[in-house]
Amino acid sequence: MIFSIVYVIMLNKITGRMLQDMKSHGCTLDCFGCCKLNVYVENNEIVKIEGDKNHPYTKGIMCEKGRNHLKRLSDKDRLYSPMKKENGKWTNISFEEAIDIIANKLKYYKEKYSSNSVMHYSESGSGSILKGIEDIFFNFYGGITKADGGTCWSAGTKAQKYDFGYNKSHFIDDVLNAKNIILWSKNPANSHIHLFHRIKKAKEKGAKIIVIDPIITDTANSADIHIRLIHLQMLLLLWQ
Ligand code: SF4
Repeated sequence: MIFSIVYVIMLNKITGRMLQDMKSHGCTLDCFGCCKLNVYVENNEIVKIEGDKNHPYTKGIMCEKGRNHLKRLSDKDRLYSPMKKENGKWTNISFEEAIDIIANKLKYYKEKYSSNSVMHYSESGSGSILKGIEDIFFNFYGGITKADGGTCWSAGTKAQKYDFGYNKSHFIDDVLNAKNIILWSKNPANSHIHLFHRIKKAKEKGAKIIVIDPIITDTANSADIHIRLIHLQMLLLLWQ
């Protein structure tokens, strides 16, 4: 064993290759999936990105956007610096300049109108743990005004609260215990791949999948029963 490790190190030294280093990372895209990724680095360059199969929630499943991380990294149109729009034209600026612009604006509004005059709308971007930094930053700034809800998941949780009085859900793996799964105007095959993975597993175990949706989606295509109602019929079904 020791001999083979020494042998690999020597071979890498001779060929100029370095041992592959694996780093743990969360997906940085604007998505609540927060996939856990394994990022492989060789000679200081990222050579492979894959979903971590050992993660209990994301289980190595990645969507198409996630699978294209590596391509995006080396894309010719990738931005390497912030951009500023002046007279309708975008120009590259340094990070120092961008930070100065934002810092000066934050300072100006805090001094002139108080920190509460600044509204922070945060419902986009990666949903990973780094998101918490925003609150810490604005607490140090003095406290700001925050939007209650937004157009993305908080709209969903609010709707769930209105409909059911509470916006807590079962643990995602509980789907595997279901005998019937009703998906009402929901297309997790495209919008929630981790849930869809469990739904497929539940189907393999014998659960019936019923989709109520006027649209033929990928989820509807994989269902046992697809009920296509037009909007008025949907409303009537709701009121029954
Ligand atoms: S589902 Fe796709 S976009 Fe969302 S976190 Fe996972 S890889 Fe990223």
